[in-house]
Order: sequence, then C-alpha cells, then structure tokens
Amino acid sequence: MSRGALTGAAVKADAYGIGLVQASRALYEAGTRFFFVASPDEGIAVRAALPEDTHIFILNGLFPGAAPLYVGERLMPCLCSIPMLEEWLQACLSRNESLPAALHFDTGINRLGFRLNEAPVVKRMVDQLGYSPQMIMSHFACADQPAHEKNRTQLALFSSVLAQFPNVPASMANSAALMTGRENHFQMVRPGIALYGGRAVQGRRNPMAPVVTLEAPILQVKEIRTGESLGYGALQTVARDSRIAVVGIGYADGFFRHQSGTNSRAGGRVVIGNQFAPVLGRVSMDMIQVDITDLREMPKPGDMVEVLGPNISVDDQADVGNTIGYEILTSLKGRYSRSYVESPTPSNS
Ligand SMILES: *Cc1c(COP(=O)(O)O)cnc(C)c1O
Repeated sequence: MSRGALTGAAVKADAYGIGLVQASRALYEAGTRFFFVASPDEGIAVRAALPEDTHIFILNGLFPGAAPLYVGERLMPCLCSIPMLEEWLQACLSRNESLPAALHFDTGINRLGFRLNEAPVVKRMVDQLGYSPQMIMSHFACADQPAHEKNRTQLALFSSVLAQFPNVPASMANSAALMTGRENHFQMVRPGIALYGGRAVQGRRNPMAPVVTLEAPILQVKEIRTGESLGYGALQTVARDSRIAVVGIGYADGFFRHQSGTNSRAGGRVVIGNQFAPVLGRVSMDMIQVDITDLREMPKPGDMVEVLGPNISVDDQADVGNTIGYEILTSLKGRYSRSYVESPTPSNS
C-alpha cells in the first residue's frame, strides 16, 4: 500500500509479543531495512539479530548519558527534547561525525516530541553545526478513526514543520494512517499492528491475515446441574444441565479477566471443532470454564481449543475484553510453548 515510501517496521515490545528476533528476521527477509523499537535494549537485540545494513530507530529518544551506547550499537535516537538534541550534537562534535538521528515533533498527541514552537531553535541548533537529520517524524493521535478532525490538524502542523527542514525525509504514518491516506505516507511509513495481523482502522474490514494462532488444552470435562454456579465469585449460574470444559489458559496468559462471563454479561469465546464455546464465569489465573453442551462432537481432556486463529481473531477477543488487539498480543507471555512457521506465500488476490 505504501508504494514509493519505505517501510520501517515497528518491532517494539517484543514485536508486539510475537518475538522480537523472529519477527525482525522475517521482516528483514521480506525486505525491511528500517526498524523502530522503544528502548535501546530492544535496539541492541535487533542489531545482534540482523545484518549490518539494518537501520534502527529508538522511539523513546536518547537516554541521558547514553550517546556512547547508541553510537557503539549504531542506534538512531528519535530526538524529542532540546537537552537530547544538545547531547547528540555534542557527540557528533566530539567524534567529528554526523551521527544519524531523527527529529520527533509533537503535532498534538502531547506525548513524545519537540513542541512546535521549539522548531526554530531546533533548526538553528542543527544549522549551526551543519547537521542534517536522518528524518523528521511525528505521530497521529487518532489515525484509527479516519474521520477524526485531529488527523487533518496534525497533518497540517507536520507540513509546517517540514517546510522548515526542506529535503529531509519525513515519516508520520502508523498502520492506520498508512491504510487510510496516501497523503500520510511521506518517505517512510511505520506500521506495527498491521504486520502482526491486527486491525488498525476502526469500523473497517481488516485486510490483514492473522499471524498468531493460539491454542490451549482442555484439562477436565464435567457435567453440572441447572442452577449450579461456576468459578470465583459464583457470578454465573447455568440455566440448564450443562457440560463444561475446563481449559488451561487464564489471565496470567493474556486471557483477560474482562473476558469473564456473568449472568448479566456474555464473556469471551473459544473455538472447539469449528464451533464457538462461550466462557462461563470468571477467568482465573490459569483456567477458564467453557460451555460445551451444544457441541456436535464432545472434546476430551488433552484436546486443544482455538483461542486465536482462523475462526476467532485477536480483535474478536479484544472487543469482548474491552481492549485492543495490541494489548492482547503484547500480553501473550511466558507460559506458552511457541513454534514459528513459514507463512504461506502471499497471494495477490
Ligand atoms: C507504535 C508506533 C508505531 C506503530 O503503530 P501501529 O499502530 O502499531 O501501526 C508507529 N509510530 C510510533 C511513534 C509508535 O509509537
């Protein structure tokens, strides 16, 4: 979709939980040479995993006193304050080298970035040294809502910054902005969630294929009687004689407590043999209970249930859990055994 623009992959937070090294290598093989991480530690991990021609931006900026580390590992900070810029220019001076870095301007998210009224000072500082930044960047607050007025305001403010730095490459688009307008692309786009199969734009069909499949084992199957309750707090009682399966996944595994079922609110679901099985009662740390009364084929202990996969997406789970796919993916932690498989060759249909 980005055509002429380069793609820099956001691989922060362990590549959104997918695995920093594995995801970065796959993206490198697909042609990505630019990577965005949050912290220098993550940058060092990418540096160690990928060939020399990899370019790594550190979104969290330059940590005080860390310039030698960044230079040694060839990490490019996204500079976002005057003290950071001073430290970086000082490092350039002392090495007599133009060390690449991005200048990050805040166009309205009020998170990281130079204030817009600092642009003239920034410009003066870099000009004094004849320093040429690698990139000028900013970040949208509402790109997932394409109709939001803030998108146009931010884009206009970004253009006013760019006018002060002619001929410096620019970058503004996360996944959602990349998918919703050519005018957001500039010279480099920075998708994250879309690379991992998540939905970037609200209220639109997600064109991306799922990347993560997640299965959990059935630990026990049992019959319960009408009126019996399930789980902590006894928040859900069954209105009929039921068969339930206890599945070995819980909030410690990123299956959130907000996906619990109660008598007044339907909870999350899993898929067993292509049929949905709803969560009954509270999600525990290590377990959920799901209703299998209506399944055509009765599963047995040891069978695996689909938690994420072709029938149930990360965004389906997120919608029930009152969160976003990003949080589901980044919460898939420690206890899973993981296997990385070659993706099928993408078709253009
Ligand atoms: C995380 C991040 C991205 C990627 O965002 P997605 O919504 O996952 O595509 C891009 N730019 C910045 C500054 C980020 O922090």
